[in-house]
Amino acid sequence: MALKRRVCLTGPTKLKLAENMLREANCELVSGKSIDDFRSYRYEKRELIHLIGDCEVLFPSGREFIGGDILDSCANLQAVVKSSIGIENVDVEAATELGILCCNSPTPENYMGVAEATVGLMVTLFKRLKFNEAFLRNSGWKEPQHRGMLMIGKTIGIIGTGRIGRNVAKRLGPWDVKLLGYDPYVSQETVAPLGIKMVTLDELLRESDLVTIHVVLTKETRGMIRMPQLRMMKKTAYIVNTSRGPVFDENELAQVLNEGVIAGAALDVFAEEPLPMNSPLRDVDPTRLTLTPHIIGNNPGSLEAGQKMAAQSILSILDGKVPDTIVNPAAVERWKERFWT
Ligand code: NAD
Repeated sequence: MALKRRVCLTGPTKLKLAENMLREANCELVSGKSIDDFRSYRYEKRELIHLIGDCEVLFPSGREFIGGDILDSCANLQAVVKSSIGIENVDVEAATELGILCCNSPTPENYMGVAEATVGLMVTLFKRLKFNEAFLRNSGWKEPQHRGMLMIGKTIGIIGTGRIGRNVAKRLGPWDVKLLGYDPYVSQETVAPLGIKMVTLDELLRESDLVTIHVVLTKETRGMIRMPQLRMMKKTAYIVNTSRGPVFDENELAQVLNEGVIAGAALDVFAEEPLPMNSPLRDVDPTRLTLTPHIIGNNPGSLEAGQKMAAQSILSILDGKVPDTIVNPAAVERWKERFWT
């Protein structure tokens, strides 16, 4: 029976909510570099292993990669818990083999915020708001060729019909648009009530007036939209990505925008964050490309909600219970064998 309650936080933040909840529940906390130091700091692998030491739970920030070798080197480690939705910086496959539970924290404050903002980005693109604002500021006024488009009757393609994809669909339901979906892990029956028609990826790309991406980042989804896929899209189509940057090759995306292969894009997430000053995306005409600094899911209360959910998951695990936030249920049997028999 595991009795210790040691939790390693690789990047504690100024927000002490999770730390306070864990301390109040008699957890011993092992803290790494604070998140402020951490922006310019990368742990060495052996440093991370040393930091995690004999902790039962790891509460990592989003900045270090927790590979299988690290997980394997920490004999007491039962779980890795993130306070955000994205968990791609943890080798979940290796964790599953080792019987280590992985949990994320999908709070409505976060995913609803992304769904709402995604719809906002769509409107910005269809209505050419950035272009017209820039034109006005350059002493221009309204010109017929600068008009935006009606969204009624347009086809919106949703790649990844999980929490956020479905909430985008739900919000667009009454807008009289046609909704297409692509997600190999979600059935037509599941999304039919939202008015989504599931199609192949190629069909979705060819038919959509706007493609919005809401996949988790995995081996499969990394680089899933490359040049051949972008070239399938209509010349008048837009793309929105609020999921994870590496779904694209950013050089290729910049190229198709510069060459007018597609009409425009809006991105909240990037392969490297903060977006490097020499990123080719910075050179694309800003009236065709909206860039936001991975902030749209970050609403008042969302960090607090994420920390609270993560702390609750950690405390369940330390009591031998599997939380609902688990992303690798296949690890449970081995976890029980290793730590709770
Ligand atoms: P989710 O797990 O509910 O949904 C993700 C969907 O992707 C699932 O339905 C899954 O089946 C699907 N998917 C997996 N592989 C696929 C593939 N090869 N092709 C198509 N679909 C595939 O996750 P969510 O809560 O909806 O989050 C979606 C994304 O948004 C995640 O990448 C998350 O990290 C990101 N996110 C971004 C922000 C932000 O601030 N921009 C905030 C929260 C979440």
